Amino acid sequence: MTHPAQPKASHFINGEYVEDTAGTPIPVIYAATGEQIATVYAATPAIVEQALSTAKAAQKEWAKMTGTERGRILRRAADIMRERNHELSVLETYDTGKPLQETLVADATSGADALEYFGGLAASLTGEHIPLGEDWVYTKREALGLCVGIGAWNYPTQIACWKGAPALACGNSMVFKPSETTPLCALKVAEILIEAGAPAGIYNVVQGMGEVGASLVTDPRVDKVSLTGSVPTGKKVYAAAAEGMKHVTMELGGKSPLIIFDDADIDNAVGGAINGNFYSSGQVCSNGTRVFVQKGIKEKFLARLAERTGNAILGDPMDEATSFGPMVTENQMNIVLGYIEKGKAEGARLICGGARADMDGYYIQPTVFADVTDEMTIAREEIFGPVMSVLDFDTEEEVVARANDTEFGLSAGVFTKDFTRAHRVIGNLEAGSCFINSYNDAPVEAPFGGVKASGVGRENSKEAIKHFSQVKSVYVRMGDVEAAF
Ligand code: NDP
Repeated sequence: MTHPAQPKASHFINGEYVEDTAGTPIPVIYAATGEQIATVYAATPAIVEQALSTAKAAQKEWAKMTGTERGRILRRAADIMRERNHELSVLETYDTGKPLQETLVADATSGADALEYFGGLAASLTGEHIPLGEDWVYTKREALGLCVGIGAWNYPTQIACWKGAPALACGNSMVFKPSETTPLCALKVAEILIEAGAPAGIYNVVQGMGEVGASLVTDPRVDKVSLTGSVPTGKKVYAAAAEGMKHVTMELGGKSPLIIFDDADIDNAVGGAINGNFYSSGQVCSNGTRVFVQKGIKEKFLARLAERTGNAILGDPMDEATSFGPMVTENQMNIVLGYIEKGKAEGARLICGGARADMDGYYIQPTVFADVTDEMTIAREEIFGPVMSVLDFDTEEEVVARANDTEFGLSAGVFTKDFTRAHRVIGNLEAGSCFINSYNDAPVEAPFGGVKASGVGRENSKEAIKHFSQVKSVYVRMGDVEAAF
């Protein structure tokens, strides 16, 4: 019998599902059991061509609609997503393995927020009037054209919407390629946009591995590429986009610091560290995986952290009581287990976890290492799994320097009751998305993105509009033209 997660076809182009079984089969594995629940086929060159030519042709008419009309469609799509939240959350859980307890509140709901927010902004995208005596200049905020979105596997619905919503609000069309690991959810986003009244062809989804992504990025018809992925992939995609002088947004990896001063509320700080390391089993780019704890509260912090981490409920992700799910794939599980072994071998002190959980599926116990030093591999490389490194520090000056000593710069957080210090420390940290007495909140109203190797550009908020549109400036002369001859 066909599994309910099996989509009607692999791709969504020009308003309908499209299949081409000549592409490489991509098995979709449910991480909680290891069973294959669906199959899609990587896009062949013919499918890529169909998606790009359709999106290119559809964009002009879409951009001619008023912002109010475009916005209404996006807001209708947000409403449909909210109505179907349960069904979409179950699919997200099948796609990623994340527990339903999370997906019910963080995926389709976050996608709907983006559609609603950018739907609301669409009508207010205007230019300026710049008086120059009798003459004047006016500016117009115009669409870029055809945008390509490429997603990572941790938030397949959210990423499809965080890229699609601002792109469409500005009058662009999009071809979106999900990660081969999680191909299911973006198809639903495309389907819902059509149901909400979007013209066929403005939001298309094609499946495939890196090669399909690369063929989209290098196509001369594409004006902009927005990638969520790792730093190595980001470097390749950025270089390929530069070749064609295309606009880019790069949402890449991190190794973010979470700094806890000894005057912090311990339980809130522990809660922040748990949210910033174990949500989605640690598969979150902005995670605060280097937890710097001031020496005075170190042992108290570790004791409370171990106690609360022991309350994690590992189990069937479809059971709403489950609060901690598996790794997305067997491969990702093995990568993370490899880092845990390195942590042990390099002398970090294991506080809890540290092994695969004794159950079916790709579960790793939530793991905390203490006495981690700056040189250890687990303190330098992005692990993308439930492995928290706790490091000690003495002074503010020291911790800021150590926190910044990384190629990454996605996020940073600080816990303290001293607000002057909180703002000063955040001011000195090299990171794009920061938190005071909190961690990992990502409302659509706030800009999201990194500095240094963690990325270029910003998603969400009004900032995203700047990255999906461009300004045309028009000089208007009211009098005669003077010329030298
Ligand atoms: P990857 O970098 O492996 O892949 C990202 C996407 O790029 C996938 O769809 C992948 O396809 C595609 N891709 C790979 N090579 C190319 C290429 N040469 N040209 C075009 N596209 C290509 O990342 P993961 O999927 O493993 O995701 C984890 C990473 O994503 C982590 O580093 C994480 O920090 C980062 N991330 C960043 C976020 C942010 O907003 N800053 C949010 C979430 C994750 P395929 O995998 O199918 O081969």
